[in-house]
Amino acid sequence: LSLRHHRPNYNYTINASRIMFSSASSSSEVGDDNIEPAFEDRIKPRVLILGSGWGGFTLARRLNKDLYDVRVISPANHFLFTPLLPSTAVGTLEFRAIQEPVRTIEGLGHYYQAKARDIDSTKQIVTCQDLYKGVRFDVEYDYLVVAAGMKSNTFNTHNIERLEGVVVFFLKHLFHARQIRNRIVECFERASNYTIPAVQRDRLLTFIVVGGGPTSCEFMAELHDFITKDVKKWYPELTKNIKLVLVEAGPGILGSFDKALSEYYLQKLKEKNIDVRLNTAVAGVDERYIDGEQITVARFADGTEINFGTMIWSAGLSPVKMISSSDFKLNRSRIVVDEYLRVPETKGRVYALGDCAASPDELPPTATVAEQQALYLADCFNKYYSAVDVTDEKNKDDEIPLPGNVTPYLMPFNALNFLNNVFCKAAPQFQYKNRGAMASMGFGGGVTDLKHTDLPSPKTTMSGKASYLVWSSTYLTKQLSLQNTILIPMYWFKAWMFGRDISRF
Ligand code: FAD
Repeated sequence: LSLRHHRPNYNYTINASRIMFSSASSSSEVGDDNIEPAFEDRIKPRVLILGSGWGGFTLARRLNKDLYDVRVISPANHFLFTPLLPSTAVGTLEFRAIQEPVRTIEGLGHYYQAKARDIDSTKQIVTCQDLYKGVRFDVEYDYLVVAAGMKSNTFNTHNIERLEGVVVFFLKHLFHARQIRNRIVECFERASNYTIPAVQRDRLLTFIVVGGGPTSCEFMAELHDFITKDVKKWYPELTKNIKLVLVEAGPGILGSFDKALSEYYLQKLKEKNIDVRLNTAVAGVDERYIDGEQITVARFADGTEINFGTMIWSAGLSPVKMISSSDFKLNRSRIVVDEYLRVPETKGRVYALGDCAASPDELPPTATVAEQQALYLADCFNKYYSAVDVTDEKNKDDEIPLPGNVTPYLMPFNALNFLNNVFCKAAPQFQYKNRGAMASMGFGGGVTDLKHTDLPSPKTTMSGKASYLVWSSTYLTKQLSLQNTILIPMYWFKAWMFGRDISRF
């Protein structure tokens, strides 16, 4: 039962106007004339993955590189452990401790730091654009997996996009956390100068977080920790001017959590003197002049206004351009997939997973969903699709059959894989397993909801120190490298013992 593919003389029509890259088995250099060498030596089907987040990175790691030539295209040359991103935005953790470079994936065929711009699912080509010079180039695939996530949704709110990176910040990528951290320190340094007018000082020390989901709440709690533990020490004269505001358009925060837990979290935020405004949508941001000073003002739908220095916008998701302009069928701006994560009409050649995929069971956009989908798809590829020789021209236009002969989980030994292939157990469709939900509240606090999990553990909820213990130990054990498993508790200890760093660069 050979799972390898031997297909000499595979003919490609090469378009000389395109820049293409070579296969793993031929030269790794892009030729002088920018023409991709023919795939004469190609023996493995190419799986092209768009995105290096929870879905893309997990899949690229788990695919069997003996069976597939695995290629990744992503503007981020690293995987980001998003649940710990709010901690880096105030310096509880350092940025590099929560990422893993794509190139550390063992056996990876190619990685290009670029954005996918266009997918031609008939010719099986993705047009990409490199991040540095904007050069466009094409990459061919046998299988394509779209795992490009979603971007922040501004809902076309007035001036949000224009002022992004100046006074308005998203919290999705590592560079966002770095921008926020620098901005916070900038606000305190500027406000501490005695020449600054009172109206400007008050504005700079007002921080607004938009959105009542876990990311906003966790960031707000981290910011509060930073202010009470570090700002108090280094800028004691400013603490009385600081204002923290959290606004949410809906009637409550942490909507996906058990009601008692969301109320507990809300109560705790209020106890920390955080001004939580529910049923309050941001109508826009204005720039005005007061006594000759330029001021940024947040306008709310209820007619109220707040002068602010920093706004963290974490209020929703919208599709990346490549997806919104694609020919794929979309549902709520996500690519429609079937129970096997296949994009219909693509003959089993295109798959989508994670935030950008709309599965039939309407799963939430979480890391748990993206990770589980990636593990499932890796199993399908490793155990079943690999038996279909897509490099054989006679199979090229055939529908890839349903993964009816796979077992759902990776077996640790080759012998077991062999047995599974021989005995052909029927595979289930992708099935999400609810692992519960957690939201931290800085050092020593948080909420954990295990009421609706599919785990055998007690269906319970936790808050305070118990929740913090579960949260921190879960995320420590989920780190992908030993290096980060060591670095993260070291930084936690450093922040707790010596405080956070307040340098700005
Ligand atoms: P992502 O992880 O977002 O990855 C998308 C990838 O696609 C990125 O590498 C991006 O660079 C790349 N990309 C973008 N555009 C293109 C393009 N045009 N071409 C190619 N590549 C492209 N979920 C939880 O379950 N628990 C949590 O505690 C939690 N906390 C979070 C905290 C924060 C601050 C954030 C932002 C999210 C959090 N989430 C959490 C949600 C979780 O991170 C997402 O659901 C998850 O990342 C989705 O995985 P994904 O692979 O679909 O997308």
